[in-house]
Amino acid sequence: MSAPDPFSYPAKPHGRRHGPRGYRSYESYRDWLRDEFAFRCIYCLRRERWGQVKGEFDIDHFEPQVRRGDLITEYDNLLYCCHTCNLAKGSRTVPDPHHHAYGNCLKVREDGGIEALNEQGEILIGELDLDAPTKVHWRRLWIRTVRVAWQSGDRAHLESVLGLPEDLPDLARQRPPDGNSRPEGLRDSWCVKQQRGELTDWLE
Ligand SMILES: [Zn+2]
Repeated sequence: MSAPDPFSYPAKPHGRRHGPRGYRSYESYRDWLRDEFAFRCIYCLRRERWGQVKGEFDIDHFEPQVRRGDLITEYDNLLYCCHTCNLAKGSRTVPDPHHHAYGNCLKVREDGGIEALNEQGEILIGELDLDAPTKVHWRRLWIRTVRVAWQSGDRAHLESVLGLPEDLPDLARQRPPDGNSRPEGLRDSWCVKQQRGELTDWLE
């Protein structure tokens, strides 16, 4: 088996798992979004486990707040992303991960470089600055780190690099003010999967 690839973008468009409604502040959706997007940045695939988390991850308004004030607290308009990508995106429009499989748009090479596979990929790279030299270097570092951890056979080390965060949110305990339009998604939340013993040691 080859080492896990930490920069393999999803092969399918994102289908929403959760549907909390009614929070007055978009920050209140944070735990739902962390779970929804597997504790990773939707745009660059940075994982919570790669940093200190606090202050490093933002809630992105896919349709920017300046243009769609009506969607500021609408769950389906919110994405989980790192602070760097959120700053780069600003109020720009990028291909919608619910309509485009980013895995069909973007390919990360072993050396950390990134290539567009189609027009959407070109837009993503351009608007989010994904081919900046600092980002190429950063991806190369993590690709090597994962490979070294994999080759060492040290499972604890590999889990510390690729595993889930320790504070998996227990979403079943949360009570969104206007309910949850997709309650069936709770069964597939990471916390519940962990309780059922279904989690592998690292994220797919
Ligand atoms: Zn990012």
